[in-house]
Amino acid sequence: MTGMTLIVDPARCQGHGRCELVNPTLFGMSEDGYGVVLDPQPVGGAKTDAYRAIGNCPEQAISLNESATPPTHPPTQIEEYS
Ligand code: SF4
Repeated sequence: MTGMTLIVDPARCQGHGRCELVNPTLFGMSEDGYGVVLDPQPVGGAKTDAYRAIGNCPEQAISLNESATPPTHPPTQIEEYS
């Protein structure tokens, strides 16, 4: 199973706060003044806002990445490749 994960790269974020202005339920600001993700897997309109925030972040610090959800059980058989 795959999903999309919204992240703020703390190495890039400069604390402009534009992300929080786009959608304050998706993004907040840390006590140190940097952007933080409040809803890492947005859907519907929130996902649209996530893309808007990505486009409005001057530091390109926000991304919405495909992430593989780890299986809940180990594989029962090993796949063979030819
Ligand atoms: S807009 Fe970008 S640089 Fe500014 S606080 Fe949000 S993530 Fe950080």
